[in-house]
Amino acid sequence: MTIKLAGRGILTGLALVGIMAVSTTVRAEENDLLNATLWTQTAVEFKANAMAAYKLAEVMLDRSLADKNSTAATEQGDSYQDKPPAVILDIDETILDNTSYEAWLIKSNTGYSSKTWAPFVMGATSMPIAGSKEFIDYAKSKGVEVFYISNRKAPEEEGTRKNLVDLGYYVNDKIDTVLLRGEKEEWGSNKSTRRTHVAKDYRIVLMVGDNLGDFVEARDATVADREALLDTYKDFWSTKWITIANPMYGSWEAATFSYNFKLPNEEKRQMKLDAMQYWQPKE
Ligand SMILES: [Mg+2]
Repeated sequence: MTIKLAGRGILTGLALVGIMAVSTTVRAEENDLLNATLWTQTAVEFKANAMAAYKLAEVMLDRSLADKNSTAATEQGDSYQDKPPAVILDIDETILDNTSYEAWLIKSNTGYSSKTWAPFVMGATSMPIAGSKEFIDYAKSKGVEVFYISNRKAPEEEGTRKNLVDLGYYVNDKIDTVLLRGEKEEWGSNKSTRRTHVAKDYRIVLMVGDNLGDFVEARDATVADREALLDTYKDFWSTKWITIANPMYGSWEAATFSYNFKLPNEEKRQMKLDAMQYWQPKE
């Protein structure tokens, strides 16, 4: 049973009073975001993981730079070998840590909404993902252009740029390298058209992201389709495509409920339960 404690909105309020468990307004056992957000925000294991990924990215960047035939983008096309090199990074949960927003969702017992996400973005308070700034500085030192392709919406560009610049991330001030959703009509949530845009003038040597769509077209891909993509591009993963762990949200989750975001939470949750394999203890 849950009893509301006035003025205590955080999960640390769990306490035993007599034999009755008294918690805050948050019923943690019902919130799938809790452990994922806690891990991402507080665990050194997450930070060490991200640092390892970005250190690998530096090694693989050098390797890709040294081989003119190397490209990380399926959208690269022909005659790219002599184009200047570029890397593409996603923003959310790849270079910027938005766990304070996720924690707020838990505290508020609510789900993601563009109405609350937009002011969060415009507040420019996201923190850096460990290792990301060092990698970007490294790429810059090697003469590699750095593009950011994010599904933040075009009107959120000011807050996004402010956050990046405040944290000391390199952002080219001569050409537009912050490519957000809807900046151009053909730039939808599918990032392929933006990768094509970058590929016109650059050889894309490496990409970093937390979501399958940050690397390859995977719209409406089922869990099985996603496994197949992992296999199809086995030569890209960890060499040209570097992933940052995001256990809080992503297409991995949506695939389990067929991207049917409008379903009631209970139904989505049941579909997630149904998507798992279960141990059967012997009778
Ligand atoms: Mg992301």
